[in-house]
Amino acid sequence: MTNMLMDPQNLAANVRSVRERIRLASQRSGRSVDCVTLLAVSKTHPIDLIRAAAQEGIEHFGESYVQEALPKIETLRGLELTWHFIGQVQGNKTRVVAENFHWVHGVDRLRIAQRLSDQRPFHAAPLNVCLQVNVGGEATKGGVEPQDLPDLARAIAALPRLALRGLMCIPPPEDDAERQRHWFRETARLLNGLHVPGTTLDTLSMGMSDDLEVAIEEGSTMVRIGTALFGERPRG
Ligand SMILES: *Cc1c(COP(=O)(O)O)cnc(C)c1O
Repeated sequence: MTNMLMDPQNLAANVRSVRERIRLASQRSGRSVDCVTLLAVSKTHPIDLIRAAAQEGIEHFGESYVQEALPKIETLRGLELTWHFIGQVQGNKTRVVAENFHWVHGVDRLRIAQRLSDQRPFHAAPLNVCLQVNVGGEATKGGVEPQDLPDLARAIAALPRLALRGLMCIPPPEDDAERQRHWFRETARLLNGLHVPGTTLDTLSMGMSDDLEVAIEEGSTMVRIGTALFGERPRG
């Protein structure tokens, strides 16, 4: 399904179907469905589609590109949505991210975290942060290496204008969602083993359109869903 074909009826059906998948996976794993937040990944999709998703009751939206996200956030300010930055934060984009988003999922370096903390406006609540873990040890992927995680988490938790909330992962691509289970389980294990005084680490951001069930079964509290809600993204 492409954007061109996505009408409000299709969107409503997709939202229902994703919510049902979340409900069934939560039930299967003995967890309350309220433990899992649906984060709608709206990157590359137009403002009207975000507005329609908000009408279906979705409150959390994820964007990967600052320049694309800013006009969306500005235009939809009246809806009081919660915006998550899920891309790689570049050093020269920290200010706009700190000023416009409520959450950042891709933090993996202290220098970036320091800038986000310094640049978070005083009138805003602390910026919620998930540390990205390179759980598959992939050379080409961002994320902190598991052995460096405890030190980074402690350093970031000490920054005054950030609220460290947990971990996020993008596991290595596998053909089969079941094969992702290992990576999700490992990320959950890393979170459970992380003890940082003064923080409540309550967030595991993991699971996308193809593997949300397995992620929820392994403890995800936030699934990042694009394609299953909005259809295929234009290739670019
Ligand atoms: C694009 C993106 C998603 C959404 O992926 P889908 O497979 O379309 O659900 C989730 N997480 C991140 C970090 C992304 O960049």
